[in-house]
Amino acid sequence: MSQTDVDSGISQLARRQVRALTPYQSARRIGGQGHIWLNANEAADSGEYALDCSRLNRYPECQPPQVVNAYAAYASVAPEQLLVTRGGDEGIELLIRTFCEPGQDSILLCSPTYGMYAISAQTNDVAIIDVPLSAERQPDFDAIIAKLNQVKIVFLCSPNNPTGDLVDQAGLCRLLTAAKNRALVVVDEAYIEFCPEFSQASLLADYPELVIIRTLSKAFGLAGLRCGFTLAHPHVIELLLKVIPPYPIPEPVAQIAAQALTESGLATMRNRVAEVNSLKLELAGQLSKHSDVKEVFAPNGNYLLVRFSNGAALFSRMAKAGIILRDFASRPGLADCIRITIGTQTEMDAVLNVLQQEQ
Ligand SMILES: *Cc1c(COP(=O)(O)O)cnc(C)c1O
Repeated sequence: MSQTDVDSGISQLARRQVRALTPYQSARRIGGQGHIWLNANEAADSGEYALDCSRLNRYPECQPPQVVNAYAAYASVAPEQLLVTRGGDEGIELLIRTFCEPGQDSILLCSPTYGMYAISAQTNDVAIIDVPLSAERQPDFDAIIAKLNQVKIVFLCSPNNPTGDLVDQAGLCRLLTAAKNRALVVVDEAYIEFCPEFSQASLLADYPELVIIRTLSKAFGLAGLRCGFTLAHPHVIELLLKVIPPYPIPEPVAQIAAQALTESGLATMRNRVAEVNSLKLELAGQLSKHSDVKEVFAPNGNYLLVRFSNGAALFSRMAKAGIILRDFASRPGLADCIRITIGTQTEMDAVLNVLQQEQ
């Protein structure tokens, strides 16, 4: 038997849904050659943590109380309104697995947006209804409300990855009212620490259909830790707890997350946010003066989406200089758009240098 026969034989065993899948093109998977990595919205530093390995012989708690309590206090919710997950991505996946019947139910998303909503839906045989963002890059709330009888979960992202826009609160409240007892409305706040005054978390008390996704991967500088949070009504959390694996949070992850959420951990995070926000505004200002730059999108996360006059040329000039960015040109409405993660001052200078070089 040749290798190809084995491969295709094994492939036939996989679920139909899985055979048809293209894996998520994460920044890590796309890769590239470079020394300046500005393609995955990672922080430029991670911080120092201590580990106590004396309990690694024991299974960890499903929901480590020190992490639950610390994040609940930070987010101003009750511990019963909170689930700790393996990254924000696991929260997204669990919501779909808990609320959507495979082969029957749908989720709704507003493109262009974060890729994992679609990937998690597809891997679970859940259909996707796309109601693209409006010309002002807002969710089209009337169109979404009109589809509510066809969907179980609406995914919104605020600040939206990659466009940076924030969801309008009046529109969100209108949607939540219409969604009563019909669908969940998820607001993904992976980047909310960069503009905390725009969090929708205070609406949790009034709208049991509202779910908020958070993460330690961005402002907390811990993408490698894989720790995220789902904030929701206790009834939603109880349902998710039926589906989550018994030991989702490894003991070292719980220890580091708890340290990141102490008062000094939060201070470190807030300093990082202040630094990123100032570098971001500086970069945005410089970019908008440049003749190759057509548009700098909303600066609400730790990244800027930028429309260049020739995105592909700019992307490859940066790559040649060892600067790896994220190309969004193939997405509807995002021709010539490149996303730049805000890194260190040195990294931002390197980006501007390449941009300003004579060609
Ligand atoms: C990074 C990100 C997440 C979650 O990332 P995790 O590393 O899985 O916590 C969720 N949503 C958006 C929009 C993101 O950009």
